[in-house]
Amino acid sequence: MKQNWPIVKVVLPADLKGVKPGALPGSLLRDIRPYGRLHWRAADAYHAMRAKALADGIKPFKPTSAGDTYRSLAMQTTTFLQRYQKEPIPGASTRTWDGVKWYKKSEKLASLAAPGTSQHNLGIAVDISGASGKRFEWMLANAPAFGFSWEVVPEEPWHIRLVTGDNPTPAVQAWVDAQKAV
Ligand SMILES: [Zn+2]
Repeated sequence: MKQNWPIVKVVLPADLKGVKPGALPGSLLRDIRPYGRLHWRAADAYHAMRAKALADGIKPFKPTSAGDTYRSLAMQTTTFLQRYQKEPIPGASTRTWDGVKWYKKSEKLASLAAPGTSQHNLGIAVDISGASGKRFEWMLANAPAFGFSWEVVPEEPWHIRLVTGDNPTPAVQAWVDAQKAV
């Protein structure tokens, strides 16, 4: 499929400045439905997008797991050590973590950013379950309207992150206003 991937540079919310990735204070995090946590700006955008997805019959609409939303440094480190090793493996894909090269133990494992370098550590990235076929087509058509875009495609079609910082899109602002009206 030839595709102009909507990859857009990330603008971070101002309140993430100076915050250590993977160590967000609880005040910046919100629970999302049905599970997981995101930075509050990303949580608003996710919930607004999810409401549209459910209304469009894209059900369920959820993260692949709670661990695929905000990840603390400890969570990212645990998973990284499960998938990468320091001992060289010829031909393996690699990641650099604190200046050291790590090798992916098996190409069957999904790639993972080094601890502290993932946008999951900032709470702005979420992996959407079942991001293929009709659901992925829906995401391509709709995610940008909620301020999300892709990071690594086509390898990670499930991984989207908020790029709009402190400027919610009209669709997200409408959702936020509707919540206030309840
Ligand atoms: Zn991801």
